[in-house]
Amino acid sequence: MQTQYVTCPNCHSHNVAGGGLCSNCGAMLPAYNAGPMMPQNRAAVPGADKKVLAGVLGIVLGGLGIHKFVLGYNTEGIIMLVTWIVGVLLLCGIPSMVMGIIGIVEGIMYLTKSDEEFVHTYIVNKKGWF
Ligand SMILES: [Zn+2]
Repeated sequence: MQTQYVTCPNCHSHNVAGGGLCSNCGAMLPAYNAGPMMPQNRAAVPGADKKVLAGVLGIVLGGLGIHKFVLGYNTEGIIMLVTWIVGVLLLCGIPSMVMGIIGIVEGIMYLTKSDEEFVHTYIVNKKGWF
């Protein structure tokens, strides 16, 4: 039989199941976890689901700022979108190309970050550019 571990709801230390009280802080423990404890809990980080979507959109449609809207950066998204449209209509598309390059760079930056880093930088700290 495999040893079961439970995570203390109070201090998050790992205890052998069946002990009743946390060996670290003495809090009441749940009877058991759903499954055996993994060495590293790979549960998705909230907000990390936007990483791939924003990254791909940045690379494919970067100049339009769609990846900014995905991340909730509406001001930055509008700046990119307006710059792209004005660039296409009035300025031979040069500003649009610059916006496209920014989008590609940002998309690659999103995708190369770990989930934790991505959430910390773009969801928690709301870093608007790069
Ligand atoms: Zn505890």
